Formats: sequence, C-alpha cells, structure tokens
Amino acid sequence: MGKTWCYRRAIDITPEDLKERGIRGLLLDIDNTLTTYGSTELAEGVLEWLDTMKTAGIALTVVSNALDRRIAPFAEKLGLRHISLACKPSPIGFWRAARRVGLPLKQCAAVGDQIFTDWFGTKFSGVSCFLLEPIRTDNEKPFLRLRRRWEKPFRRALLKKGVQQ
Ligand SMILES: [Mg+2]
Repeated sequence: MGKTWCYRRAIDITPEDLKERGIRGLLLDIDNTLTTYGSTELAEGVLEWLDTMKTAGIALTVVSNALDRRIAPFAEKLGLRHISLACKPSPIGFWRAARRVGLPLKQCAAVGDQIFTDWFGTKFSGVSCFLLEPIRTDNEKPFLRLRRRWEKPFRRALLKKGVQQ
C-alpha cells in the first residue's frame, strides 16, 4: 500500500525526501499542482524544480484528467510525456505511467492536489501520494469548489495522522 505525505507545494518536495522514501518516479498532476486551474503558465519555481528532479535522476511523467488539447502542449513545454483523460481515481492512468517510467509501483508517487481524484487514485493503484494544497481555488468551477469542501475531513484526518511535511 502506498503512503501519503502532505506538502503545501510541489516545489517543497526535495530529491532528498524522495531518496529517503525510496521514490524514484513522480506522476505529476497539472491543474493546481504545477499551474493554476486552466493556466498555461507554470507556477513560480516549477521549471527549476523539475530541472532539479531531472538532475537527481527522478523519472517524471504527467498524469491528468484534463483533455489532451490542454495537457499535450503543457507537457511538451516541460519536455515530459503525458497521459491525458486519465480518469483518476481509476488506477489505470497511474499503472500506465508507472510502466512508462519503468519503475515498480512502490517506487512511484503521484503529486496532486485533489482528494477524490489524485489521492483516491493512489489508494486504488498502490503508488504513494504527495498530496498538495491547491495553488488557487477561487477560479475553479462550482462543482470543484463544492468538492473542496468535501475534501476537508479527509485532509484533516491525514494531517492528524502526522503525515504533514
Ligand atoms: Mg489538480
């Protein structure tokens, strides 16, 4: 069973954190993880963070529920392969991504901001999870904002278990 670590931002995860935990591949969400919802600009520090991870030999790939027309240009800009329409929390996208980076599931961790897609997907698939706080929620669609409210008890429980970083 994969583990969960709560971080604020993707850029707070260091290669040392990954080494300590035996993680060699990151399966990256896009919206509210590497950028704000629907934006084509990377959040501050993300490009440098990706470079740091690449230099440290961490395998990176993008796994997103968004449409290919949103994700493909973004992934291309990052120089990463991608899986769009991943249907998280279905485990299939994470399994495909793990196979793509050539690592066993226990050496992979998803990096994402949503409980009901990213985090549940890691539970169903067996990869670990770096659960982030969303970068910005005020421009999310109404159903997503509602889901943010439903996320709260899960986040509280995870933090209570002492998995915050
Ligand atoms: Mg997201």
